[in-house]
Amino acid sequence: MKIIRSIGEVPHPPGSIGFVPTMGAFHEGHLHLMRTARQQNETLAVSLFVNPLQFGPKEDLAKYPRDFDRDSALAEAEGVDVLFAPSVEEMYAAGLAATVSIPALSNIWEGAIRPGHFDGVATVVTKLFHIVRPTTAYFGLKDLQQCMVLQAMVESLNFPVTLEFEPTIREADGLAMSSRNVYLETFQRRAAPTIYQELVRCGKAIRLRNTSVDAEIEQSKSALHQAGGLVDYFDFVALPSMRRLRNYAESTALICAVRFGSTRLIDNLLL
Ligand code: AMP
Repeated sequence: MKIIRSIGEVPHPPGSIGFVPTMGAFHEGHLHLMRTARQQNETLAVSLFVNPLQFGPKEDLAKYPRDFDRDSALAEAEGVDVLFAPSVEEMYAAGLAATVSIPALSNIWEGAIRPGHFDGVATVVTKLFHIVRPTTAYFGLKDLQQCMVLQAMVESLNFPVTLEFEPTIREADGLAMSSRNVYLETFQRRAAPTIYQELVRCGKAIRLRNTSVDAEIEQSKSALHQAGGLVDYFDFVALPSMRRLRNYAESTALICAVRFGSTRLIDNLLL
């Protein structure tokens, strides 16, 4: 495995290049993306970059978990060919005279609570696509809105790359794996699986169609509140627009963001 720190040294071998962009602190979710990309491509590139542009001023940029030696050993074990791990200075040396924005999808849900977040994601992913030049890039459905934002970006702006979205990898008790789970106190970690339980319960009820979507959502919000969570949103949306929906239809999802103390967890369920 080649560890590359500078943009000019990223190789562009012939044949298919699978690419997994990450912020490190690898867990089974990241490793699943790497395994899938490894099986489907001649070359596997992974980026490890904690992108300051997608963090708000009050967010966890400084304390975001970082362990390069552990991550690089895990990447090596998954058969990664190129690990691109630039510094912030290297990535943003050229400045930010241009950024990428997808207004139709970036200002709702996560975007409403985290202004500028998806512009930061879209801008860094654009830069990474230009640097790595992948044929296929792999993202986790755990970040469903991110997937919809990037799909819209790639289609609207004719990026020569295919996006593959992979299912959410969960702990045995249903909690979606996340680098941020390490912030949870023991009592919060015990309560956090309520998120997935409520997504599943609410999803089943909505699919049966003999209930009001509003009533089921209210029931889930109250169960999460009882478990000690502060619900930023818990809602039912159409895909890929992410617009609020009140009747069961094709291509829909339940989405939610719940805070346990200062730790904010997001999850979703495709229905
Ligand atoms: P991050 O390092 O958090 O930016 O995540 C890198 C990639 O891993 C993104 O495409 C995420 O959606 C994906 N990912 C994060 N958690 C999970 C998970 N539990 N299951 C599947 N993919 C995930």
